[in-house]
Amino acid sequence: MTTKTVEAVISPREPHFVGDGFRVHNFIPSLPNLSMKRMSPFILLDYNSKYNFGPRETPRGVGVHPHRGFETVTIAYKGKVAHHDSSGGGGIIAEGDVQWMTAASGVLHKEFHEKEWSKKGGDFQMVQLWVNLPAKDKMSAPKYQALEHAKIPKVELENNGGLIEVIAGKYQATKGEATTFTPLHLFNAKLKKNATATFEFPSNYNTALLVIEGAITVNNKEVAPTNHFVLMKNDGEAFSINATEDTIVLVLSGEPINEPIASHGPFVMNTPNELVQAFEDYNNGKFGVLAD
Ligand code: MN
Repeated sequence: MTTKTVEAVISPREPHFVGDGFRVHNFIPSLPNLSMKRMSPFILLDYNSKYNFGPRETPRGVGVHPHRGFETVTIAYKGKVAHHDSSGGGGIIAEGDVQWMTAASGVLHKEFHEKEWSKKGGDFQMVQLWVNLPAKDKMSAPKYQALEHAKIPKVELENNGGLIEVIAGKYQATKGEATTFTPLHLFNAKLKKNATATFEFPSNYNTALLVIEGAITVNNKEVAPTNHFVLMKNDGEAFSINATEDTIVLVLSGEPINEPIASHGPFVMNTPNELVQAFEDYNNGKFGVLAD
């Protein structure tokens, strides 16, 4: 077993708004070292760091828009989102929940702060991750996996050090419930102050950490504070994180999909022609119907 070392600790860039409900720092693919190809199968990561939205009668959010060719994974840390899509999927994503939406051949969806939550307002903190699909699955049927917090498998760490929530893939012997099209691991590591957790992934898997709360030291060496992103090298398998305060870290690791990427806005395909087709299909109503 060789050590997987840190390539870079990356600060969040200036946030921008997606619609009026998501104030996000984009990490993948706009930051140096974090291109779609470098981070494959993770092709986008938008992070709404903790932000207080005031009360509002009409919920803030993002109106109806399409996706094709990949999956969107929404991980809620604070606040509540109501989601609806044209395949009939929908629901409330509450604190600790994860929504895994396979857009594949195409959906329309909309994402708003949940109505009652919006009336009160409060701290809001979420990650939206886009996971690419291999060419053979890009035009498969859309689907939706609602992973409720209570049902997400958890691994207790030694010495009461906290726990690892396994959203997808496997931590030690515990498997997550999300089904994925290519091998990947996605965990929330919730570590108590001074606790250490170790991770092992194949060296070719693209691997990164996002510090949601608290602060960590990776391999007893590199320090990453809240809202920082740690890009790991593809040089080994095992690494450790030590929490220097009570901490939540999103851990992502996946086998790269070594296929061409053609992307434009909400469509991520393999060729420019497939992008043209996506726009045509969208304009011709082939993504279904969803009311505003
Ligand atoms: Mn969307």
